[in-house]
Amino acid sequence: MSFFYFISSALAAIWRDRKYSAEKFERLKQDRLQRLVRHATERVPFYTTLYKGLDLDNFKLEDLPPIDKVTMMEKLGDTITDRVVTAEEVLDAARMEDKAMNWIHGKYLVSVTSGTSGQVGYFLNDKCSWQGQRGAVFARTLRDRLTPYQIARFSFGRRYRMAFVIAGGGPYITYQLALDSPKAASLLANIRQYSVLTPLEENIKALNEFRPHYLHGYPTYIESLAYERLAGRANFSPEFISLGSEPFTPVAKQVLKEAFPDSIISETYGASECLVLANQCSQGRMHVNTDYAVIEPVDEEDRPVPAGHASHHVLITNLTNFIQPVIRYRLTDSVMFTGEQCPCGRSMPVIEVQGRTDDTVWLRDKYGVYQAHTPIPFEVLFLDSPGVIKYQLVHEWQNYLRVRFVCDPTYDKKEAAKRLAANFQQYLERHGLEDVVNLDIELVQDIKRPEKGQKLRQIFSKVPSPGGGNITH
Ligand SMILES: [Zn+2]
Repeated sequence: MSFFYFISSALAAIWRDRKYSAEKFERLKQDRLQRLVRHATERVPFYTTLYKGLDLDNFKLEDLPPIDKVTMMEKLGDTITDRVVTAEEVLDAARMEDKAMNWIHGKYLVSVTSGTSGQVGYFLNDKCSWQGQRGAVFARTLRDRLTPYQIARFSFGRRYRMAFVIAGGGPYITYQLALDSPKAASLLANIRQYSVLTPLEENIKALNEFRPHYLHGYPTYIESLAYERLAGRANFSPEFISLGSEPFTPVAKQVLKEAFPDSIISETYGASECLVLANQCSQGRMHVNTDYAVIEPVDEEDRPVPAGHASHHVLITNLTNFIQPVIRYRLTDSVMFTGEQCPCGRSMPVIEVQGRTDDTVWLRDKYGVYQAHTPIPFEVLFLDSPGVIKYQLVHEWQNYLRVRFVCDPTYDKKEAAKRLAANFQQYLERHGLEDVVNLDIELVQDIKRPEKGQKLRQIFSKVPSPGGGNITH
């Protein structure tokens, strides 16, 4: 059944991508939105209260009050359609050891995220929305590669080798995507996961052996692989590199181009709250997947921002998740609708995304060599610590890290601090840094956003990059 949802969604996503006009996309979006809002109002207590008095036969998207992660998480149990599932069950499923693919009641998959807000969130998909979004991500990421010729190339046992270099081990959505491959898909693709927590040289060795056709990762991490390739230590050369979860800086773009001159490089934009927000086309533009998501660029007061202007944040609506609806939900990414007609001919709007602004942390090992530590592995250390609901890492001065966290009031504070310290200690040991890096674990009441208009930097380095340093992470 899973494979049916996956393949039917992928085929529909390909079909609409190639055939649908702007009007057809708009009609589909309105249809889906009407159904979703009616469902949420009638069956999900969180929205029943929020949309009280709303005329379901005659409303506009702008009439619906925006929400955010804090409000949703405070009422977690009430945000779920199936009234049998409790908030405790969701938290338990997320905290279980070996917990990446725990289906609650055999039906609902929980994903944990901090996204760009510094607040931990739990989001559920049922099998239908999960496989539907997976199929769509697959179809839209590889939109120009899914031709009969390309598919034939990897048939008859010559499988497409796909490598995901990601945060592994826990219920993190990209890891879950890479892990939960339908069995039938394994005839065409050989999918492997590599953890960003593993020392770089081990991953390089494994990737050199695997020689992936397809490589997915975070821009900062793929950038460090690119430096390894330029230094002659990495010898794999994927045909296709997809990037997600972080902004792709001009410097990283340059380095990737130099290191992988024959690769197609493609950005994806998704979140745990909605996997299929936007994907790049062959012209290097990001198109909003208007059949799966609504993205509204807004200012600080949630008022719409016109094309050509960068938003303060966005409101997103996931049109396909009916088990835990996400409607007009604040994501802290700044997005600009360019208003241009893309030369590729697609009618879906073109956007530019300026996502999170976390730093790479440069730590000096006992030999005086600088190691580049990218932001996401640190996030995993926090997310893998039960009881942590908000966090920030500050590289205060060279090799001194302040690990700040807010604890869930129902959780044992000492226990949370102990686990967090152990996670960081283990990470430092794995990189040979335990004797040269100092750590302070600080329990705080809250982690405030900086002045108005600025993003919270969760992984924040006050120490400049050593420049020209030897990247040996
Ligand atoms: Zn295009």
